[in-house]
Amino acid sequence: MIAVLKQNATNEQIENLTEWLEGRGLNVHLSRGEFHTILGLIGDTSKVDTELLEGLEMVESVKRISEPFKNANRQFHPDDSIIEVCGLKIGGPNFQIMAGPCSVESEEQIINIAKSVKAAGASILRGGAFKPRTSPYDFQGLRADGIELLLEAKKQTGMPIVTEIMNANHLDLFEQVDIIQVGARNMQNFELLKELGLCKKPILLKRGLANTIQELLMSAEYIIAGGNRNIILCERGIRTFETYSRNTLDISAVPILYGLTHLPVVVDPSHASGFARLVSPLALAATAAGAHGLMIEVHNDPVNAMCDGAQSLTPEEFTLVSQKVGRIREVL
Ligand code: PEP
Ligand code: MN
Repeated sequence: MIAVLKQNATNEQIENLTEWLEGRGLNVHLSRGEFHTILGLIGDTSKVDTELLEGLEMVESVKRISEPFKNANRQFHPDDSIIEVCGLKIGGPNFQIMAGPCSVESEEQIINIAKSVKAAGASILRGGAFKPRTSPYDFQGLRADGIELLLEAKKQTGMPIVTEIMNANHLDLFEQVDIIQVGARNMQNFELLKELGLCKKPILLKRGLANTIQELLMSAEYIIAGGNRNIILCERGIRTFETYSRNTLDISAVPILYGLTHLPVVVDPSHASGFARLVSPLALAATAAGAHGLMIEVHNDPVNAMCDGAQSLTPEEFTLVSQKVGRIREVL
């Protein structure tokens, strides 16, 4: 980390600042130029509050040289992490499609959809049991019963399942779930992230609605710091001023994350767009951009879906998307 001091910084101020920084376990290298005095801070700067430093009277600017996320950083782990789920691999050259309804609604619905997405090339079944809804009056999911139905669908199709957790107190219910999803709204629920750090299950960590890429990586860092390195990141669109789509898919997040972290990145074009007709082009773009997988909402009767019907593909539409994604993968 580098701190550039103001031209009029006095020797006393510089000495006091150096002492304060050394008190935080850092080595301080002073470099006096003709116009600027620069302090090079060496050591573990992850605990240094850059805003606090920048706010000091004698400090002009502060620049981090190394990222505040260490464990998720590709610099310290150059090889792609590969996450294993029931014998399937995600990350590196391995690409997987997760598909299924926004929410589990009934046994017939989830089993029917599971069979059709599997036949169309999906390898992991998604389905919400605990649903984070904007309105308390909307369908909140079948909760524990929804997880039971997902497990039944897993039994009948052999597909591993991914479903969202909203409360660490529910962890017992997730014992047989293969991938635990942290939804966009909980990306910065740090107490939940800490609990998930203590379990060994793969975590699908979705980017928050208004969170930066660095914040997403810091949330992954929480889980790894607790001891769980099995993390799959998910770009699912962010809030912008645009209103023609539900969110704006930040496609550049895919190659940016690839450079910053060894963790696999999947893209959810369904929540990113909000409309079924946009899902195919975004899924293809994400695949071409280097995503390690996709998460796509599929419903056998989108018009009557209890949640997110407008963005849900029919099994037939999903089959076409899956085939096109396969063609893009061949080109890559
Ligand atoms: C979901 O996957 O069903 C979901 C609620 O997604 P997000 O958290 O990205 O909105
Ligand atoms: Mn949804």
